Amino acid sequence: MINTFQILGMSAGSPQLDQGVSSYMISCSNYDIMIDCGEGTYLEWLKHKYSWNKLRYIFITHLHPDHIGGLINLLFYKKLSNSNTPIIIYGPKRLKEYVDFNLIMQNINLSYSYKILTNPKFEKLNDDIFVESAIMKHSVKCLSYRFNALNFSIVIATDTLPTDNTVYLASNCDILVHECTFMNYNLEKAKQTYHSTLNDALYIAEKAKAKRLILSHFGNEIKNKIDNVSFNNQKCLINNNRINCNG
Ligand SMILES: [Zn+2]
Ligand SMILES: [Zn+2]
Repeated sequence: MINTFQILGMSAGSPQLDQGVSSYMISCSNYDIMIDCGEGTYLEWLKHKYSWNKLRYIFITHLHPDHIGGLINLLFYKKLSNSNTPIIIYGPKRLKEYVDFNLIMQNINLSYSYKILTNPKFEKLNDDIFVESAIMKHSVKCLSYRFNALNFSIVIATDTLPTDNTVYLASNCDILVHECTFMNYNLEKAKQTYHSTLNDALYIAEKAKAKRLILSHFGNEIKNKIDNVSFNNQKCLINNNRINCNG
């Protein structure tokens, strides 16, 4: 059962004073799932009172710093806090190499058990959540994830150009979180950098028949311009509070 969903950081590229880079939390009854762990995620995660013992799964979309820059630190802080619960980290192919290399270079021996599983397609977490992935159109290998519980489904699609893979993955989902790095007048820049515009995100949500669209991964000038954007009569811009997914 998915209880809550929360955005810990929604800036694209570099963190801002009032907003960190990519990280999302899904809370289930007995465990939490983190999606992406950009730099500064740990402090946001701490501020919102999550616990080490519940953090059992981390899904990484891709290896750009705004999505993975906080991961090694987070794993290290878990060790320092004497938390012994195991953790499983999923992500694209080179994730294992990245984590292993960084742990060796920083001479970190994790004291708890951890597993890194790459290129997950269909995964079952604790018998109650099914996870599917799809390949995105980005400048590096990038995966989006769909989390299906009996009561709720959430898709996180970042970073990507608009692609039918997202449409299939997000088909009829309850929440589609789609990246929205640029305003429509920056379409060319979006294409060059393999990102989406506001119109792209709305188009994909429409095509997928998502029930709700939440926008994230904002470039510098975009956030104060989309305050009034809505989809299915619900605002697409949310704050950093938890959303209740239990009706
Ligand atoms: Zn990014
Ligand atoms: Zn990226």
